[in-house]
Amino acid sequence: MNPLRLLLLGAPGSGKGTQTSKLLNQFKHIKSVSSGDLLRRRIQQKTELGRIASEYISQGKLLPDSLMNDLVVGELSVRGWLSADSSFLLDGFPRTLEQARSLRVQLTPHNASLNLVVELDVPTDVILERIENRYVHVPSGRVYNLTYNPPKVPGKDDVTGEPLIKRPDDTSEVFGKRLKNYAETVEPLKQFYSELGILKTVSGPTSDIIFPQLLKLVVQKLHQP
Ligand code: AMP
Repeated sequence: MNPLRLLLLGAPGSGKGTQTSKLLNQFKHIKSVSSGDLLRRRIQQKTELGRIASEYISQGKLLPDSLMNDLVVGELSVRGWLSADSSFLLDGFPRTLEQARSLRVQLTPHNASLNLVVELDVPTDVILERIENRYVHVPSGRVYNLTYNPPKVPGKDDVTGEPLIKRPDDTSEVFGKRLKNYAETVEPLKQFYSELGILKTVSGPTSDIIFPQLLKLVVQKLHQP
């Protein structure tokens, strides 16, 4: 089986977190890193980076590229994933062309470059409806939706029983900015990965329609001769 080093691209609310959970359930040898989750954990732990992050996040702004690179590559290194046989899934990073370039520069010497990038293409009206009903469990990054994926006990995480929160950046004003950021930054990013020949797109309004398409791409990559 080949290693899988996958990046999921998609607008905020396009279901990257949900697709990630589904993939991790199916492939136990694959683990994920979500840049947003890393930042939210720093905020909860009240670290210096957390303080900086909360200022950007609350305004719907992207953090500086160099800071994000250090954070995520540091995490990959700590987890021992800077190696040719590692498999991992990235969610939310790289998000700009600059981040993509510098990640590539850092992974290439370890023969650990990304080998699949999948864009989740979900209609905007569906995304807006989802965000209104979205709740998260910060320590694990688990995502719930009151309409189609509610927690077993209202307001509590299914696994730990800890409280769920509404993300403060899921308000309509901040969320609008985040959608706009995405639209502005994603095109050069897609171009970069398309030139490397590893970009694919999956489309649909629900995670149940998207997931089988994503699964097919992942299985192909794992078993490609
Ligand atoms: P997410 O959970 O992926 O929606 O990320 C939440 C927020 O964290 C974003 O709106 C940004 O403010 C910040 N963030 C997460 N990942 C990145 C990144 N790769 N580059 C810059 N900012 C990021």
